Amino acid sequence: MSTKQNIRNIAIIAHVDHGKTTLVDSIFSQTGVFRDNQQMDARVLDSNPQERERGITIFSKNAAAVYEGCKINIVDTPGHADFGGEVERILKMVDGVLLLVDAFEGPMPQTKFVLRKALELNLKPIVVINKIDRPQADPVKVHDQVLDLFIALGADEDQLEFPYIFTSAKNGVAKLSMDDDDQDMSLLLDMIVREMPAPESSDEEGFQMLVTSLDYSEYLGKIAIGRIQRGRVKPGDPLVVVTPEGVVAKGNAVKVFTFDKTQRIEVKEAGAGDIIAMSGIAGVNVGQTLAAALKPEALESFEISKPTLSMLFSVN
Ligand code: GDP
Repeated sequence: MSTKQNIRNIAIIAHVDHGKTTLVDSIFSQTGVFRDNQQMDARVLDSNPQERERGITIFSKNAAAVYEGCKINIVDTPGHADFGGEVERILKMVDGVLLLVDAFEGPMPQTKFVLRKALELNLKPIVVINKIDRPQADPVKVHDQVLDLFIALGADEDQLEFPYIFTSAKNGVAKLSMDDDDQDMSLLLDMIVREMPAPESSDEEGFQMLVTSLDYSEYLGKIAIGRIQRGRVKPGDPLVVVTPEGVVAKGNAVKVFTFDKTQRIEVKEAGAGDIIAMSGIAGVNVGQTLAAALKPEALESFEISKPTLSMLFSVN
């Protein structure tokens, strides 16, 4: 195992409406990843029409920012408790979470639900207290409420020393203390690069990836999303789908994508530690391992809860 020092894989977790989408927009509009004359025509995380229609996140949307030579993959999580199983799977792809909390409302049920999962999985948290511009906001009190929540959830000493940052995603403002002058979102990116662990993965040969979620495109068919655990993959590679019971399907990778800003971009090859999307393997399902045909070894999977299963069947 080695760590990929130039990659950070993180998820944003929050109660609905606490500002996930606005925060990601703000990161992208402020950190030079968009050219000056380039306007964003849609909000980053809400890009799925079906999702917009329902007003909740169905598929997780990924984005990536390159900041000071480090690629930060930002994974969205569903803002709705019904998708508990999906949250858990997504959290298995990342090493840290941004826990986003409204500076007026404080922690809400979904905050608690996802934080519990994140702590159980030993993910590194950074607490982002957002909407500090709201007239009735009490950011310092909310920080204390978050600390109480960590204690109530049985966080260990390391977890209790979580780094935190105050933001107004709407105004593109960030600061480490409410007494500080306003800074921009690069303060948050600095914190992510410094505090979040780099992913552990293996450069050994023999591509291996646990499939965390699926997407579907009329043109490409089934698309498998996950973090590469071992090796590299490129279009054309012969792959197998492995479970603890053995190989259940075969196929060749057709297209391989990584995330760039808010889009999937096609790449010639992707390596260990990165989060990718891949088409070509019709027989794969969530929780199964995609592996090089020459090294058909399964990764440890996770339980798939019933709501998640029915959800997958209804959308595919
Ligand atoms: P999400 O559901 O977590 O993705 O939340 P959104 O990003 O869609 O934000 C929900 C609402 O809160 C929207 O009306 C935003 O404009 C608003 N909002 C987000 N960030 C801020 C902020 O920093 N200050 C204020 N006052 N409103 C914000």
